[in-house]
Amino acid sequence: MTRLDTKDALASLYAEIEGRNPAQPEFHQAVHEVLETLAPVLEARPEYAEAGLIERLCEPERQIIFRVPWQDDRGRVHVNRGFRVEFNSALGPYKGGLRFHPSVNLGIVKFLGFEQVFKNALTGLGIGGGKGGSDFDPRGRSDAEIMRFCQSYMTELYRHIGEHTDVPAGDIGVGTREIGYLFGQYRRITNRWEAGVLTGKGQGWGGSLIRPEATGYGNVLFMAAMLRERGEDLEGQTAVVSGSGNVAIYTMEKLIALGANPVTCSDSGGYVVDDKGIDLELLKQIKEVERGRVSEYAERRGASARFVPNGRVWEVPADIALPSATQNELDGKDAETLIRNGVKAVSEGANMPTTPEAVQLFQSAGVAFGPGKAANAGGVAVSALEMTQNHSRTSWTAARVEEELDRIMRDIHTTCHETAERYGAPGDYVTGANIAGFERVADAMLAQGVI
Ligand code: NDP
Repeated sequence: MTRLDTKDALASLYAEIEGRNPAQPEFHQAVHEVLETLAPVLEARPEYAEAGLIERLCEPERQIIFRVPWQDDRGRVHVNRGFRVEFNSALGPYKGGLRFHPSVNLGIVKFLGFEQVFKNALTGLGIGGGKGGSDFDPRGRSDAEIMRFCQSYMTELYRHIGEHTDVPAGDIGVGTREIGYLFGQYRRITNRWEAGVLTGKGQGWGGSLIRPEATGYGNVLFMAAMLRERGEDLEGQTAVVSGSGNVAIYTMEKLIALGANPVTCSDSGGYVVDDKGIDLELLKQIKEVERGRVSEYAERRGASARFVPNGRVWEVPADIALPSATQNELDGKDAETLIRNGVKAVSEGANMPTTPEAVQLFQSAGVAFGPGKAANAGGVAVSALEMTQNHSRTSWTAARVEEELDRIMRDIHTTCHETAERYGAPGDYVTGANIAGFERVADAMLAQGVI
């Protein structure tokens, strides 16, 4: 087939997928972004198309939707919806986080699960892809309410997961506290100490050192690798970071450690810009200990910081940008602003934070662009290392985990870079990540037959 024929075939396949999955715009976006880059590999390897690989890859192996009833502190009953999409297990047990946020629906879980399949393949660690969550809103809920919700959620989820089957972890709204409540309920129901069933556990009961830091640290390592390709490093670079959760905080920590200067953070209420650079201890105190808002950071920090309600963090001039909050938070207009202000590189800590239009603009302007499925893979990679430690009942030192994380992120960068070159798209990390992830999953699926 010629390139044109392949592109036509992919376009009609995409139209079919869109039709079969109505009202799931985020899932459509994630699929489209991958299919758009696969033509060269499908031409080079016609056996993929013959085996119906794209069709199979875009259809989750299993989709579970369930009711999650729970009582608030006043005794009122609430009903939320729980999801777990087990997308692809050709390379290992389904692996991917749980998101608790009011915006969660099946389409969002499917987009995240689809991305996860490629991301996990890129780590080279033998993990399949899945994702889950609920439309539960944890904001303003007491510890006791969070615990009751997690227990109810696990009361259904437990029958679908297991260390060799499906291993959930955290994502937006799910951190060590929630993983603790989920793990406790799983242990109670099953009467098994099965540490490898969930990752992101706490220290002392099966958690890995550096897991909380891994996604943010990994993203900065990926950014550093992209800059190295251009003969630069992180020293002295001003960085805009969005979000103020797990990924954002540890992105800033690593940026500071490597000599860069993060000057912003944000939440859904607005953003903070701090001319002196973000004071990470203060931000951690407010977000991790007090579970407060970034506006409080500006109130307590003094004259160098101000809070911009409802503003876009991308209007702050910077050398590098690391979106770390949520999907589609950086659009075409934001990209134009960043480019006008001289941004050199963008690396995605969040999943799909950059709209397709913005990605296009960055690439046309020669801005290095690291897609989330490569750049934020450090979190799931260390989750897989947590599983390894659980299986062998050992606990690695922080230095050992960091060393592994560093190696994995360098490997992912090299793989994406070399794959892009091999398929005629030098410097295009989107194409490199999509094709490299696809090849690994596709080869395993080919070998395992039509299932
Ligand atoms: P957290 O819940 O710890 O933090 C999320 C942050 O993003 C908060 O500051 C939150 O603000 C903000 N945010 C969330 N939704 C919105 C929204 N709709 N509009 C504006 N701000 C929003 O989540 P994580 O840091 O774990 O996750 C952040 C991103 O990173 C997600 O895309 C996630 O999928 C991705 N990711 C996470 C990994 C991990 O290991 N945790 C691994 C790989 C990717 P507010 O409190 O106001 O909602």
